[in-house]
Amino acid sequence: MSSFRPIQSVVNGVPTSDGAGVKLTRVLTQHLQRRLDPYLMLDAFGSDQPDDYIAGFPDHPHRGFETITYMIAGRMLHRDSAGHEGLLENGGVQWMTAGRGVIHSEIPQQEEGVMEGFQLWLNLPSHDKLCAPWYRDFKASELPRLTTPEGVSVTVIAGESHGVIGAVQRDGTQPLYLDVHLPAGASFEQALPAEHNAFVYVYRGAVDVAGTTLPAQRMGILQNGPEFDGVRVQAGDQPARVLLIAGQPLNEPIVQYGPFVMNTPEQIQQAFNDYRAGRLA
Ligand code: FE
Repeated sequence: MSSFRPIQSVVNGVPTSDGAGVKLTRVLTQHLQRRLDPYLMLDAFGSDQPDDYIAGFPDHPHRGFETITYMIAGRMLHRDSAGHEGLLENGGVQWMTAGRGVIHSEIPQQEEGVMEGFQLWLNLPSHDKLCAPWYRDFKASELPRLTTPEGVSVTVIAGESHGVIGAVQRDGTQPLYLDVHLPAGASFEQALPAEHNAFVYVYRGAVDVAGTTLPAQRMGILQNGPEFDGVRVQAGDQPARVLLIAGQPLNEPIVQYGPFVMNTPEQIQQAFNDYRAGRLA
């Protein structure tokens, strides 16, 4: 790699709550959906106060996209209308393709301690929005990993990094989802196709990206351009952990209403009608 993407803008995220009152930070908000196409949302949650998470996310529907939940610490039970059930814990990933419709719940299985993780929403191409629902849990030990000569440890949740194929691949959106743990002062380089949208979220320490310092709890949106062939992140004088996420934009209309993301208002209305009529389960 010869030319690394700089950070175009730094995003703080918005404190909010969702589900039955789970406190979280919405890092990727609705107004960034076009800029970060094919990604629709990134929520970061992290608390050692049970009141912030204990009620979880009771039964709710989704249609038209995929949800990827990455649990750094904690235990969450998932159940859905297709009869799937799974326990997501420390370092595990749940990848769910809502497709034409899923009703599910996500409920913490702990009454104390730290609950920390991320939920990312990845759009589906228009021709796949009504596909059959799919879901899989990956335990931490099942996720592909690599370690660079500098001692950088990378979990490859989706896509490919340094020859290691991730747990999930998708043709239409070509998602790259890496969790990168950098020792103090170490750097990590990742190739990125020029047309893909990409961002970095720092959740421990701080990193330098092409001369810009990105502190913890910040998202850096990476500049696009044919002159760049990748990204390089370097930890400061403390170890750092970052998510590096990229994907191929769909360049299709995005219409979101709550848990439904479709291409037209009529399709959203249809989703509501199907949900009310019990056709999403
Ligand atoms: Fe959900």
